[in-house]
Amino acid sequence: MRMFNKILIANRGEIAIRVMRACRELGIPSVAVYSEADKNALFAKYADEAVFIGPSPSSQSYLKIDNIIKAALETGAEAIHPGYGFLSENTVFASTCKENGIVFIGPPSTAIDAMGSKITARQTMKEAGVPIVPGIEEGINDPDEAMDLADGIGYPIILKPAAGGGGIGMKIVGSREEMLPALTSSQSVARNAFGDDTIYIEKYLTEPRHIEFQILADEMGKTIYVSDRECSIQRRHQKLIEESPSPVMSDELRERMGSIAVKAAKAIGYASAGTVEFMYSRGDFYFLEMNTRLQVEHPITEMVTGVDLAKEQILIAAGQPLNYDQSDMQIRGWAIECRINAEDPLNDFSPAPGRIKGYRSPGGPGIRVDSGVYSGYLIPPYYDSLISKLVAHGKDRREAIARMERALYEYIIVGVKTNLIFHKAVLRNARFRSGDFNTGFIKEENIAEA
Ligand code: ADP
Repeated sequence: MRMFNKILIANRGEIAIRVMRACRELGIPSVAVYSEADKNALFAKYADEAVFIGPSPSSQSYLKIDNIIKAALETGAEAIHPGYGFLSENTVFASTCKENGIVFIGPPSTAIDAMGSKITARQTMKEAGVPIVPGIEEGINDPDEAMDLADGIGYPIILKPAAGGGGIGMKIVGSREEMLPALTSSQSVARNAFGDDTIYIEKYLTEPRHIEFQILADEMGKTIYVSDRECSIQRRHQKLIEESPSPVMSDELRERMGSIAVKAAKAIGYASAGTVEFMYSRGDFYFLEMNTRLQVEHPITEMVTGVDLAKEQILIAAGQPLNYDQSDMQIRGWAIECRINAEDPLNDFSPAPGRIKGYRSPGGPGIRVDSGVYSGYLIPPYYDSLISKLVAHGKDRREAIARMERALYEYIIVGVKTNLIFHKAVLRNARFRSGDFNTGFIKEENIAEA
């Protein structure tokens, strides 16, 4: 069977290490690329080889396609894993890899393209018979038109940048009067963040849950869903705590939503690991978007299914057939992930980079820590503020919660401010423990003030 001689990881931090761990288990040497600020980062030391690719700002290093390709060619890496963020959903990068005879470990660039614009994705999904959130499938041209369209959909609505990500530029509009300022603001944020100010409208669902499905597809077209994930614990539309399975999931609903997720992936000729995101509201569910990469929260799916998603991505990219059938995807127990960030709880959870002076991560039964830090490590200000992903697995939700609480108690991080206190507050919250919550949870429960 064909396998890569060497893989370059075009990313940094915990996800670079996660992928290198998969390489190591497969017996494949790994190549790290690092910026000035990451000279002493763990992932650069963990790799078998490391290549310097430029100054600290990601625009001059982790986003520099030419530098990364050059590093792959120079080290003789046959494939590149992009991780998440940075160039992971960049079709120019995927095709540049191909032009240089390097395998991009991810889906075909046509599939990335099909999901790149939220508007195109909605059109494609509608045609494929996948239910989408009510709204429009084209960009807004002027405010009058927007108001008429919103009247038709019914308030509240949400304005979204077509090129969006990370919740950036989204605006909830409650009435016709609020439309003009909201649209102007959305457009200017989108223009700055994405270089594209195309905005469209979706019905704003009240009290929805964010439920997503991990899928795996090989290059022969075999496609399965792996597990569902509940991602409703969010601040500013950003996920903070995820769990698998979702507390509202039944076997029947999982089969229904999972089959739709597979249908969505097949409609765009998907191959690799991917995630189909849904909004779930009172028994109904709607396609939100598809992420054409490995996601931050992938470990909870690995914990409950035993599937190594990073390894599967590599095997699929090497042209191997999927080793699993749908019937192999049995969920065992429950897994929860807390995103531990360097953030200041007393300053609106704004990023708080700095030097970690003391560090001891939790352990014991059912605990997994995916991290790229160590004692003495300086968290640079240039990138995201993720310190680690703390994952707890138990035989049921109650045990997973108990293990997470214990692990949060054990976690020692000295020198930088973190959101550990936030996670502790959520874990002991009665509504969280009951499983009865939605994306409005943090606001409604005032957790940020805890
Ligand atoms: P992004 O790609 O910027 O992350 P998404 O479209 O994935 O944006 O939405 C992120 C989050 O915003 C969702 O998980 C949900 O909490 C909220 N959201 C998005 N669209 C809607 C909607 N139509 N109704 C209610 N909440 C929404």
